[in-house]
Amino acid sequence: MKARCVLCDTIDVISDDNPLAKKLRNRPIHTYMCEACHTRITDRTIERTSSDHYRSYKDIQPKEDW
Ligand SMILES: [Zn+2]
Repeated sequence: MKARCVLCDTIDVISDDNPLAKKLRNRPIHTYMCEACHTRITDRTIERTSSDHYRSYKDIQPKEDW
């Protein structure tokens, strides 16, 4: 099947054996990302999770102690 990348509009052909193809068929709303964009996003996510900003966000405590 064909799937268009939501980020760069590249149209990829996915093998019907690919679990991703099944997912896209069952849920057409499911967004597809080409491998290049997926790698880029993954890299960025890893960068963010290892940054101080992300850590300080996680350290914010819920206001339950008053
Ligand atoms: Zn892409």
